[in-house]
Amino acid sequence: MNPRRVAIVGAGPSGLFAAQALLARAPFEVGIDIFDRLPSPFGLLRYGVAPDHASIKAIATVLARVFDDPRVRFFGLVELGRDVTVAELTASYDAVVYAAGASEDRRMEIPGETLLGSHSAREFVAWYSGHPDASPQSLRGVRTAVTVGVGNVAIDVARVLLKPAGDLAATDMPQAVLDELRAAQIQDVWVIGRRGPEHASFTTPELRELLALPGVAVDVQGVELASIDDADLDRRTKANVAALLESTTPPAGPRPGTHDGDGSDSGQDGARPRARLHFLFWHRPVRIVGAGQVEHVVCERTAPAGPGRVEGVGDLVTIDAQLVLRAIGYRGIPIPGVPFDAETGRIFNQDGRVTDPDGTVHPGEYAVGWIKRGPIGVIGTNKADAGQTVGLILDDLAAAPEREERDLIALLAARGFSPSTLADWRRIDTAELARGEAGGRERAKIEAWHELLDLVRTGRAGGPPSVADQRV
Ligand code: NAP
Repeated sequence: MNPRRVAIVGAGPSGLFAAQALLARAPFEVGIDIFDRLPSPFGLLRYGVAPDHASIKAIATVLARVFDDPRVRFFGLVELGRDVTVAELTASYDAVVYAAGASEDRRMEIPGETLLGSHSAREFVAWYSGHPDASPQSLRGVRTAVTVGVGNVAIDVARVLLKPAGDLAATDMPQAVLDELRAAQIQDVWVIGRRGPEHASFTTPELRELLALPGVAVDVQGVELASIDDADLDRRTKANVAALLESTTPPAGPRPGTHDGDGSDSGQDGARPRARLHFLFWHRPVRIVGAGQVEHVVCERTAPAGPGRVEGVGDLVTIDAQLVLRAIGYRGIPIPGVPFDAETGRIFNQDGRVTDPDGTVHPGEYAVGWIKRGPIGVIGTNKADAGQTVGLILDDLAAAPEREERDLIALLAARGFSPSTLADWRRIDTAELARGEAGGRERAKIEAWHELLDLVRTGRAGGPPSVADQRV
């Protein structure tokens, strides 16, 4: 029997967990080709996990072992739907696994959302993570930042904004990002939840880490924490409410509707705080106001309106702010030729087998990660999720008839298109480590497309024309 050939589209955590499970569990020979739009693997581990969360990033070291296996190849700079079609993929592989993640963000759909200074947290995270597609973000003139949403992404961006710049200096952030954060003079960060702390989706260690930032005074508004009945709350939520209660200092900083603090508030240790973190629960932004640039965020008080839902109750408060980051969730984007549920932002699937909207299975096509189940769960959640899909793949492959081998890479080469390879990624990796060492840290990300492509090209001298050459 020929090796069963599997294509994985997306080299982020879900794709790599799927590869890991296939390598470990396949009772027959397999060959795995992993494709990514970028010349680097690791997806959200590289461009989504906060740079100061080294222990989560270390998962990349474990997942990187997948690439040491001779049964695995990596092809970067390949975008499904642009460089290769679904039909070409499915004709070339026994199984195709979509691991494309959720690369769009949700919108609040409120007036002023497109003003300068109003962005998605996704864009902000991409910038500080050194994603080559990210636009530079300016923090000049930002004294107050507002983050909308009470999930872990909101917590990440609030922490990066409030952390002393020196504490970020050892991370892999691009130098330009570190310089911008060092020059920033942010004094207040607001975290706005449309429901209460008992409904917030952030996890307790992440919340506690934010609350413990040195020199940051914390207040909680819009809710009486002590009166939350925690009898029916789960452990995480109970711990969240307790953490907020423990950290709260009397709210003497700016309150919604006022302009500046009275300067009399204190940090947790009684000293004058360096900055202030305000949680405002049971409020939702209804408009962002400013002359071309964010100046105020107007929020309306909310009240429960059925399970998971809120309604505005009319009381308005105004926060003076120069930066608004909406951290209200990610969304998957459709892949041409793959059945996509626009409502949920996911590929139609049953436990990972791709289906039509009516449930008819697309043989040989599978989904893993956020594009399968939606943008929920921490990195580790993808392991069990990928394991479920891989179980189905292995069942299907064991029963599938053998078919003629077709080499997609040869097909692409015949078109004059050669993707980047693992050797190219290793060259980028080495260059980032060298850049980091020169600056006294482990790694410094290379964020410019032209530099990444130059590094890919370096390996091509006299070789076949590369996709990188075609794109520049
Ligand atoms: P999330 O956990 O789904 O949180 C989204 C937040 O936005 C919720 O508070 C939600 O409130 C709110 N929201 C949604 N629509 C809104 C609207 N129109 N107006 C106001 N608020 C709105 O999503 P996330 O923070 O993007 O995180 C995505 C996943 O990545 C999560 O599973 C998260 O745990 C994970 N993650 C983990 C880490 C980590 O482990 N350190 C770091 C980052 C991300 P409702 O609940 O009321 O809808």
